[in-house]
Amino acid sequence: MKKHPNVIAIDGTSASGKSTNAKLVAKALGYVYVDTGAMYRTLAWYCLSKRIDFHDAKAVAVACRKWNTKLECVEAKVRLTVDGYFPEKEIRLVEVSVAVSMIAAVPRVREWMKKAQRDCIQFGNMVMEGRDIGTNVFPETDYKYYLDAHLEERTKRRVAEGVNENLADRDQRDSQRAAAPLMIALGAKVINNSNMTSEQTSCLLIEDIQARLKADGR
Ligand code: C5P
Repeated sequence: MKKHPNVIAIDGTSASGKSTNAKLVAKALGYVYVDTGAMYRTLAWYCLSKRIDFHDAKAVAVACRKWNTKLECVEAKVRLTVDGYFPEKEIRLVEVSVAVSMIAAVPRVREWMKKAQRDCIQFGNMVMEGRDIGTNVFPETDYKYYLDAHLEERTKRRVAEGVNENLADRDQRDSQRAAAPLMIALGAKVINNSNMTSEQTSCLLIEDIQARLKADGR
């Protein structure tokens, strides 16, 4: 019988090192990397560029039903394109960061994203990072991790990247929304990396995943 691809779910707060570590883990394991935050950001960017009010849940849901998207896997990274365009840089703009948690709270948007994210299995074994991967998108996976760090440390990391944003606000919106809020999945291994380098965090993750995959005969 053909084996189902392995899914490593990495969830956590904003700036907790999910992207950096998920990329390092994917590279070490030879898995595909999926940044689900980028998918939500793409919709936020799309709404902003089409002048759709991101506070208007109905309008956002309509846009999400109609937009013309495609999932692609390029150099082991999954990307979501809109009308054939991949807005890689634009989705990191501050205005997108401000709008994204609002559009991510819309239930129809979350349904759409969940389906698209589950469709990524077509690309094979993967490391998927986000807020609800272990709880909602792939609750069946046995490989769940939750990253966190103190707010002060996370803010420092963003400032070092040249980004000044209110992470506490975004975390609050992500944790308090009704649909698939950010929370620790049952059985997830929690890593607080406030005093760790990304190398230390990724080593911890890789060792743990490899040991568990081996124990599971995968
Ligand atoms: O990870 P990143 O900061 O790029 O995510 C941007 C936003 O997308 C989050 O603050 C959250 O509102 C939303 N998101 C989500 N569920 C995910 C991934 C991201 O709600 N799985």
